[in-house]
Amino acid sequence: MNNVIQLLPDAIANQIAAGEVVQRPASALKELLENAIDAGASHIQVLIKDAGKQLVQVIDNGKGMSPTDARMSFERHATSKIRTSQDLFAIRTFGFRGEALASIAAVAQVEMKTRQADSELGTLIQIDGSEVKKQEPVAAPVGTSISMRNLFFNVPARRNFLKSNPVEMRHLVEEFQRVALSYPEVAFTLYQQDLETYNLPSGKLSQRIVGLFGKSYQGQLVPCEELTPHLNVKGYIGKPESAKKTRGEQFFFVNNRYIKSSYLSHAVSSAFEGLIQADQHPFYVLFLDIDPAHIDINVHPTKTEIKFDDERTVYAVIRSAVKQALGAHHVAPSLDFSMDVNFQENWTNDPEKKAQVDREYSYKTFNTPEFKKSSVSGWERLFEGNLSSTPSPSQPKDEGETEILTFPSRASMDEPRFMIVPQEAESTGTTFQVEQSYIVAQMSTGLMILDQQSAHERILYERYLKNIQTAKGASQQCLFPATVQLNPSDYALVMDMVDELHSLGFMVEPFGKDTFLIQGVPADVTVKNEKDLFEGLLEQFKNFKNELSLDKRENLARSLSRRSSIKKGQKLTPQEMENLVGQLFACQNPNYSPAGNKTFVKLDLNSIHSFFGK
Ligand code: ADP
Ligand code: MG
Repeated sequence: MNNVIQLLPDAIANQIAAGEVVQRPASALKELLENAIDAGASHIQVLIKDAGKQLVQVIDNGKGMSPTDARMSFERHATSKIRTSQDLFAIRTFGFRGEALASIAAVAQVEMKTRQADSELGTLIQIDGSEVKKQEPVAAPVGTSISMRNLFFNVPARRNFLKSNPVEMRHLVEEFQRVALSYPEVAFTLYQQDLETYNLPSGKLSQRIVGLFGKSYQGQLVPCEELTPHLNVKGYIGKPESAKKTRGEQFFFVNNRYIKSSYLSHAVSSAFEGLIQADQHPFYVLFLDIDPAHIDINVHPTKTEIKFDDERTVYAVIRSAVKQALGAHHVAPSLDFSMDVNFQENWTNDPEKKAQVDREYSYKTFNTPEFKKSSVSGWERLFEGNLSSTPSPSQPKDEGETEILTFPSRASMDEPRFMIVPQEAESTGTTFQVEQSYIVAQMSTGLMILDQQSAHERILYERYLKNIQTAKGASQQCLFPATVQLNPSDYALVMDMVDELHSLGFMVEPFGKDTFLIQGVPADVTVKNEKDLFEGLLEQFKNFKNELSLDKRENLARSLSRRSSIKKGQKLTPQEMENLVGQLFACQNPNYSPAGNKTFVKLDLNSIHSFFGK
């Protein structure tokens, strides 16, 4: 009988294992960069030639290796980072599998130079396809330089699978960006064919973002922070206006390790809902800090996927952090641009402080008596309806407070609930309409131009959403109840949201086959024909349903605000204009319409001066 099973020679085993770790130049770059970080480097240089096909080299000033370690580092499962299986559950370093260098050396020509601070001489090792060609002492700076040449020189089939240079280069830059973002305190340079492409000095995260993505990001970053007992979120999000059509610059890091998660990225986009258009993607760089015991990072060999014990909580915390940041952004910078949120690294999370900014602002420009009395500040309201399963911490319990927050019906358009107080001037005569579409209002620091339709949609949208959530929408009774007959599928659709319609103030009841009876509509909607209003609402609801993935309530609020808002071309009285301005800035997010269009622009005195060269 013949025995046929044999152990594979190391070189072949390494080559097979390499398939998992090294798919392309970028995967090697990632491993080399992470090793440099793990070695405590404060400056890392990257040299790329021919999109990494010819050369990927990483030079660090980290702790270096002894001659024995230098040789050992190329063995498979050789690592200095974990010793016991217990360590696996408390991983804080990047590497831990101990197979990166072995894999890279199996499929490329590798040269390492390394020296520790307390040795005079360093070590040089050359390996081609797992075969050690040279090991000798060498003069070298402290730290490690590893160059990988001719990737897949010995596996032609895989070399042929490499993509064009622009594609491979894009992958390399992406890996570089991820590591550079998560270590802003480490300086990085990247050379492409000897040309310096990035030179990133050590600095703050906001500076690193600008260094990587360009100056245009300077005015666009909003700090975001949420600290909870189990999970901290920190980082920056882009202002809604910096959102792009392509989903590009979106980064999550968990314990400083880049991860991909469509679930968590949905948490961010849902917080942006109503602030950007449906086909736009917000910018974000968010760092999650979580006890390693609650995550499993070892799901995938290239380690960009992750499992959380409790994904839903992570989702909720991220969403709330982003919402809060957007809310804070609206209270300060959008209205008073002199306070720049950028480079404001002291991410304040003190609710008192935020409420203070909020209050100060409302005093400054608008006389909002009801708002002032409220003990529930603007940013707190952002939480409402946020964690749908748990009661909102800021849910007002007292009836009196609720009254303040729900927008009153009807009366609001007749009475000057919010008035602009343009410094010492009286309130009339300073607000006027252009083209019956835009409202020009004077402020203490210049002028503001509002798009009346977008602004009104925003006001109504927030009001309706609130009404649906609290079931507080007032109703006006129809003089003559109307019946609406629908097709069966529309009938089913309406049946499914009868409760929400009631909350909004619609008094609708099933009334025979596929028919509804309308006895009342929301109090603050000016209606000529209840039936038209109802059918129009249904039509709008269906349109949004096809275009966007809105939840039912959100869709209803949006649809009704679209249908019942003031339109372009509608003449407004000075009082109505002032009410509109006042109400807009009492909104949680006054800057954008629910569809993501700007509601106003500001022309501050400085810009006006600059027109005249002053
Ligand atoms: P891992 O990072 O998973 O431990 P690697 O194959 O990437 O495995 O590296 C093996 C070992 O070589 C590391 O554990 C570390 O001790 C050493 N090493 C690798 N790169 C460097 C470096 N740039 N500086 C210092 N030590 C390094
Ligand atoms: Mg490693």
